[in-house]
Order: sequence, then C-alpha cells, then structure tokens
Amino acid sequence: MNWSTINNRTFLSALLPLLIMLGLLLGSGCSRPPQLAAVPAQIARNEASATPTVLLPTAVPSHTATPTATASQTPASTETQTAVAPPPTLTAYATMIPTTEPTATPGPEVEPTPQSTPSAWPTVNPAWLVRPPAELDLSRTHLWFARPVDGNNNPSAPYRFGMTYNQQLSPHRGVDIANDLGTPVVAVGAGTVFYADEDIETLFGPKPDFYGRVVVVEMADKWEGHTIYTLYGHLESVSVTAGQPVNAGDVVGMVGNSGVALGPHLHFEVRQDDPHSYESVRNPELWYQPYAGRGVLAGRLIDGNGVFLPGMRVNLDCSDGTPRTVETYWDQYTAPDDILVENFVISDLPMGTCRVWAETPGGLVQQSIEILPGELSGVVLQLRP
Ligand SMILES: [Zn+2]
Repeated sequence: MNWSTINNRTFLSALLPLLIMLGLLLGSGCSRPPQLAAVPAQIARNEASATPTVLLPTAVPSHTATPTATASQTPASTETQTAVAPPPTLTAYATMIPTTEPTATPGPEVEPTPQSTPSAWPTVNPAWLVRPPAELDLSRTHLWFARPVDGNNNPSAPYRFGMTYNQQLSPHRGVDIANDLGTPVVAVGAGTVFYADEDIETLFGPKPDFYGRVVVVEMADKWEGHTIYTLYGHLESVSVTAGQPVNAGDVVGMVGNSGVALGPHLHFEVRQDDPHSYESVRNPELWYQPYAGRGVLAGRLIDGNGVFLPGMRVNLDCSDGTPRTVETYWDQYTAPDDILVENFVISDLPMGTCRVWAETPGGLVQQSIEILPGELSGVVLQLRP
C-alpha cells in the first residue's frame, strides 16, 4: 500500500458520511451530570507479560478459544483521525434536513431515529448504573480475530463504535472501513457462515436493505459461554453460502456500497448471542487484533457515582505525537463488553505511555496508561464523588 492509496482512502473514509447528510439531525444540547470536582481514579492495566516480539496477546481467554489471527497487517502511516474536519457546508445541510427518514443517497448507516442527544446511560440494566470505580478486569479479553479486509483496515475515526460522526449519525453499531469497490473482505476467524445474502426479508438492521448484501459468520469459539457472530455489511457481492465453514482470511465477499451506504466501505460488527438483534452488538475493536506492535485501550469515563458519562470526548496523547480522540458511547444500544463494562475503546495505539484525558462538566479527568503491543490496556476516568 502506498502513501497516495492510504491518503485517498483516508480521505474517502472521512468524507463519505459528510456527503450524505440527509435525514441527519444536529444535537440541541446534552443533559449533563452535576458539577463535580475532578480527581484521578484508579488505573488498571495488564502486566507486561509479553515480549514485544510476540504478536498474539498473552491474555488468552479463559475458555478453549485460540487466537486465529496473526496481526500481520502493518499500520497505515496516516490515521483517519487526521482527516475528520467537516466541510463548511455542513451547517447549511443540517438546517435543510427534515426529521423524517432520508429518501435519497443515505449515509453509511442512517437510522430514522433522532439520536443526537446523549441519553442517560444505560437504562436497560440498572445494575450498570452504579459500578464501583474498580480496576477493569482485563483477564478475559478478546483480541482473537484477524482484520476483516484484505486492504485498508483503519476504522473511520469519527464514527467508531457508539459514536455519532460529530452528532450527525446514529450511534454506530460497528466500525466502517473504507476501501475501493471489490476489495476482498475476509473472515476474521474460524466459523460457519450463518447468512450470506441481501437483508431484504431476513433483517439484521433496523429496516430491510439496511446492510444490503451481508455475510454473518457464527464464530467457532464461544466467549464466556456466549456465541459470537461477526457481520460484514454493504458488500458488493458475497462469496460464501450459509452453512459453509470458513477460516480466518477466507474471502467472504467484496467491499461494496449496497444497502444504506453511499460510498464503498465495509461495515464490520461483532454480535453476541443473537445474530439478528441490532442491539446485540459489541465493540469490534475489542475483538480484532491491533496492528503489529500496537495496542488497544478500553476505558470508562464515569461520574463520582460510577455512572457513565455518554457522548463525551476522550483525548489521547500518545508516544507518536499524533493526537487522537474517541467519544464515549452515546446510548444504551451500543452495549459494553460484559466483563469490561467500558464506554470507550480505541485500538492501534503505539506502544508506550498515553495520557488519556477528558474535559467534563465536572472538570478535567486524566490518567496515564501504558500501551503494550498486542495487548489490551484499561483505564478508569472518574470524577470525585
Ligand atoms: Zn457502519
């Protein structure tokens, strides 16, 4: 992959959703928690048990699953964070937009539901509302899977899992990975094809023809007793049939823009237990391996009572000097991992120390965290009770 290819793809990844602002709503303000004094909270990370030359994570899950990926991809030189600025016409678009479902050239995933105000999170499981500000349990992490494209594998930075593309799209249920039409999409691990067709009558999203041609793979390995599915959406064509066994790297289809997508990209999801439920998604960046030499960070941004702060920007200053941001999950429909109970994840971080900080209504919270190659680190950012 050369520089121009990377940059073109990066540009495409950032620009595509902006081209399709129809039906999208701008936020009108956010309900915020009470003013609280900031204080650093506990920091938790896994121990440096792996040598830098080991690509597979040493935090092997507690069950019988074995990593199937090799993390052979190299990181792109230009990350998608660098090209997120919206065009100047954005506001004009937004004021023209009706609140109804779009009728033409919809974006990557445009739902007919307003979403731009963070909701009290979560509302579905009160037990999650108050979590002790304990260390994250990193002992049963994932990072099993390979990357899903034989091509660019950088997820769109402003539209990571649970994010809203600067309050212009519904909270994202997966990651978007821009590539040229026809780029091979590959299974991220061993499994059996559960579905491979258009989602016209069999639904996986909020409405028919949402993902277009879609492949769903039931993964061979279970996690904590749960069945895990991976979903590959908006394909130009499918290369497999239901019931067919696949292994990591097997081509399951080609990158396309079928369904609710304007430009060619792969929408990749991880689902737990219910392959059809749009609400069974989990953050894919917890599941596929980072690029060689890179690590993954999962975290919680919570108030003094342990309640998640939704839709808040988290900033990272890492060893390579590239500024990064990620936002906490905006609503309860992008569920956290059962064990981590995180509300943000960002992958492919350079090894070394990252300062992680957020300006919240209750003040600045920050932590330093060590990123280890091929491993998951965790951080808790909590306001003073
Ligand atoms: Zn998507």
